[in-house]
Amino acid sequence: MNELATCFELAGVSHRYESDRQGTDALLDVNLDLKHGEFVSLLGPSGCGKSTLLKFACGLLSPSSGKVSLLGETAQTLGQVGYMPQQDLLFQWRTVLDNAIIGLQTEGVSKKEARSAALRQFKAFGLEGFENHYPSQLSGDMRQRAALLRTFLVDRPLYVLDEPFGKLDSLTRLSMHRWLTDIWRDRKAAILFVTHDVDEALFLSDRIYVMSSRPGRILESASVDLPRPRNHISMTQNPNVSNLKAKLLGLLETNLNEESDG
Ligand code: ADP
Ligand code: MG
Repeated sequence: MNELATCFELAGVSHRYESDRQGTDALLDVNLDLKHGEFVSLLGPSGCGKSTLLKFACGLLSPSSGKVSLLGETAQTLGQVGYMPQQDLLFQWRTVLDNAIIGLQTEGVSKKEARSAALRQFKAFGLEGFENHYPSQLSGDMRQRAALLRTFLVDRPLYVLDEPFGKLDSLTRLSMHRWLTDIWRDRKAAILFVTHDVDEALFLSDRIYVMSSRPGRILESASVDLPRPRNHISMTQNPNVSNLKAKLLGLLETNLNEESDG
């Protein structure tokens, strides 16, 4: 696969929800692309349309205007993208193992085959020994890993992850970052990752799209030119990273101030 070829693209995408009388303009003229195998983050304030944008990627929603293409096709993309929604949506009455296989079962894989495929991944996902536990018996990070296991068990060219670590404490997040980049390196798939945390975006991404407040526009596409594997401590001490962080925070803050001034 040509790593420089475009995997996913939005061109001139705007979206308006018409669910109430005034309607809500969620996104405005968004242009964005991901190359094969690229890790790209969407960084933006709450309500700026990040989750909406991910729904276009997996075909759950069509934009009011503009073009969405996956692997060069503009047709329905549902089923070609691994999607982890903002809520982990684990079924409380299913064991971790049987939650993990839902995606495969939806694809028509038999329960036996799906279970054996999932069992091979439990160690890599840090869930070994918890196969037969229920979600309520897991810690927050384990639940997120279980939801990620379900997402990654299905082989896809693109995974879209909606704030998967949003509810975790900051130390747990650090270890999840290292772990996710290992998983991504082995998959060689593209990831579109939503976050509102600048440090998280910097650690994980090849590129970061900074979004404005609603209606979400792209303010900047910034490359994070750092070798991998990355290390949180050396990133903290790297002046290039600090400068980039200051720039991204500046963009976010200016935009929020403009919003409150206007
Ligand atoms: P984010 O994920 O960045 O927090 P969302 O994509 O969830 O933002 O939402 C963007 C905007 O669109 C918000 O103002 C939200 O209230 C609105 N919105 C989201 N989903 C719907 C919907 N189904 N109907 C009406 N408005 C919606
Ligand atoms: Mg969201």
